[in-house]
Amino acid sequence: MLSQPTAAQQDFSNVQIEAVPVRDGLYMLLGQGGNIGVSVGEDGTFIIDTQFAPLSDKIQAAVRGLGGGDIDYVINTHWHGDHTGGNANFANAGAVVLGHNNVRVRLMADDADAAALPVVTFPDRISFHWNGSDVNLNYAPAAHTDGDTIVHFTNLNAFHMGDTFFNGAYPFIDISSDGSFDGIIAAGEYVLSRSNAETRIIPGHGALAGREDLENYLTTLRTIRGRFQSLIDEGRSEDQVVAAGVTSEWDATWGAGFMNPEQFTRLAYQSLTRQ
Ligand SMILES: [Zn+2]
Repeated sequence: MLSQPTAAQQDFSNVQIEAVPVRDGLYMLLGQGGNIGVSVGEDGTFIIDTQFAPLSDKIQAAVRGLGGGDIDYVINTHWHGDHTGGNANFANAGAVVLGHNNVRVRLMADDADAAALPVVTFPDRISFHWNGSDVNLNYAPAAHTDGDTIVHFTNLNAFHMGDTFFNGAYPFIDISSDGSFDGIIAAGEYVLSRSNAETRIIPGHGALAGREDLENYLTTLRTIRGRFQSLIDEGRSEDQVVAAGVTSEWDATWGAGFMNPEQFTRLAYQSLTRQ
């Protein structure tokens, strides 16, 4: 997510970090901002995303509570501040930060602290062999942004999808970061095709998910995409598509998250009509 108050404007003093077990040394941390993945084990500790800078001490304490130590690696799923805000703190404490090439490009363009920048970047994929699992980091092109990574713990049958998946809410198609509606759907299909009934999925926002939750999300997005495309093909304007209210059966639930129905509809329309 993006259009939130900056960390400096928010009060994080009451935020609690809650750990949710995913599978064998893999956990999800809930706090404020994007969900964090944590891998702890004999090789050390890495985390996926870092929420906001004022939470770094609490996050490190939660990791120690899971048996982890200092953070060896930070993987960024994308550049947004609610996922990278703690990068500099962990880097200054010794962690190596990794992300897609465009995470570094966009953080630099956003005047991020030099310590917050990924020092290892990749164009398509990179793999870790860590704590007994092969961990594949796969680029999802033009999805939530132009720098999304999907993390696949192949031996654990688990994923972290970053903000390509908002569990139970309309996704944020960040057009200004060259994200796209079709790229978000493609990211979901990539994970779905590698999942089964036992798969566990950490979404960027929302509760820990399984294959059924992702299927439901994709079915909904494909249905909505079809309706929008029909209206676009009829020559309807953005305002007319908003007024048509074709997402109404999901708005009370899916529209109650970060994106309200109108915001989601406008970004989807802009994405589908972009040349
Ligand atoms: Zn985001």
